[in-house]
Amino acid sequence: MGLRRIWIVGLIAFVAAVAGVFVGRMLVDTPRASETELHALLHREAKLSDEQETRLRPIEARFAARRAALELEMRAANIRLAQAIEAEHGYGPRVTAAIDETHDIMGALQKETLEHLFAMRDVLDANQTATFDKIVVKALTADAR
Ligand SMILES: [Zn+2]
Repeated sequence: MGLRRIWIVGLIAFVAAVAGVFVGRMLVDTPRASETELHALLHREAKLSDEQETRLRPIEARFAARRAALELEMRAANIRLAQAIEAEHGYGPRVTAAIDETHDIMGALQKETLEHLFAMRDVLDANQTATFDKIVVKALTADAR
C-alpha cells in the first residue's frame, strides 16, 4: 500500500466516523430532546388536580410504553446506519435506506407525541387549556436556533 493510499483510507474512515456522529446527533438527539422538554414543561405548567392525575395515569402509561418501544427501534436503526456508513464509506443505498428508516421512526415518535399532547389536553379545564395552548404555540413557533 502506498503512502497516498493509506492516507486516503484514513481520511475516508475519519470522514465516515464524523458523519456517523453528526447524522446520529442530527436525527436523534435534537428533535427528541425538544419534544421531551415540551412534554415535561406541559406537565409542570398544567397544575393538574388529583382527579386529573388519576385520569391521566393510564394515558401516560400507554404513551411511556410507546415511546420506549420507538426509542428502542431508533437505537437499532442507528446501529444499522452506523454499519451502513462503515460498509459503504459514503452515501450509498444502504446509508440512504438506513436514514429513511430513522426518519420514519422519528416521524412516528413526533406523531404519537402530538397525539398524546391532545389526549392530555382533553382532561384539562378551560384555564389550563389556555396555558397549554400558549406553551404549545410558543414551542412550535419559536425560531430555529
Ligand atoms: Zn403526558
